[in-house]
Amino acid sequence: MPRPLITDLSSADLAAWCLAQGDRSFRAQQIRRWIYGKRAMGFSEMHDVPGALRTALEEQFDYFGGAVVRHQKSKDGTEKLLLELRDGEQVECVLMREDDRRTVCISTQVGCAMGCVFCASGLMGVKRNLSTGEILDQILRLDRLLSGEERITNVVLMGMGEPLANLKHVLPALETLNEKGGLGLGARRITISTVGLPEKIRELAAHGTPFNLAISLHAPEDELRTRIVPVNARIGVEAILSAADDYFAATGRRVTYEYCLLAGTNDDPAEARRLAGLLRERNAHVNVIPMNPVAAVAWETPSEPRTEAFVEALRRGGINVTVRKRKGADIDAACGQLRLSELQRTT
Ligand code: SF4
Repeated sequence: MPRPLITDLSSADLAAWCLAQGDRSFRAQQIRRWIYGKRAMGFSEMHDVPGALRTALEEQFDYFGGAVVRHQKSKDGTEKLLLELRDGEQVECVLMREDDRRTVCISTQVGCAMGCVFCASGLMGVKRNLSTGEILDQILRLDRLLSGEERITNVVLMGMGEPLANLKHVLPALETLNEKGGLGLGARRITISTVGLPEKIRELAAHGTPFNLAISLHAPEDELRTRIVPVNARIGVEAILSAADDYFAATGRRVTYEYCLLAGTNDDPAEARRLAGLLRERNAHVNVIPMNPVAAVAWETPSEPRTEAFVEALRRGGINVTVRKRKGADIDAACGQLRLSELQRTT
């Protein structure tokens, strides 16, 4: 068993640990400031923490949870890291730069059990959940790529894995991102992307913090959706929409529906009209994502006119819609691609 990561500890846990070492609880805030604010690369840099406490930190915790095994940089400023965890598993995370936004996209599991047909992460199933520290560790690594004045402005849980299937570790990580002694990011700057697990959506709503919720719908009716997102066979579109309505009612946060456009599969304007019919009466936003080509899966990006026709049909249906720009097109930036290409290279 590897040692715990320092980022596995909540502020309360760390304060209790400091007390147990015979020191004062305020040391926890000092330590967290070094981790989340001052971009320390290890315990030895924490100059205002007493030597005995730093030694205890070194002895009992690991500072980083993963080594960077690949680092790709795109011409558009996007950077992608492949991290090797302490048990040899690999996860990916991405930093995207756009105007004054610095958005990081992180993973929550090794692999994914949801099996979306267009996704490299789902190809080999799920191996395990990431710990809270392993989730936060990706953010620390990406944060250290930023220059002095740059700060992370947004976090999206859209990397490998289904975040709501690992809510036990995801929620404490989100709390650290949200709280002042952590990264201090407002809830509206944190987005959780899910295929739509109704019970877990309600659990998240009960937590009470109005994080952004993005539901990967990809189809307006069950037969088509189950072909694209196989786990839908056990859930169904109606149950997802009902849970999303509950989320909106509990948090007041408008729900986003992600729609990955796959040429010849779900890109017919008739599907857009059906989707508009489902969402028109809801306070919803649709984010259309033209398929990011993945070498290992045989799905294609629709042509631009086809994408425009789909978007136009949604707009005519009274839906608020945006089209996601592709970032990092010259690197393996689609979810799970970098891990997959590394596995293929080494096996
Ligand atoms: S798209 Fe997301 S939910 Fe679907 S298989 Fe990939 S990682 Fe899992």
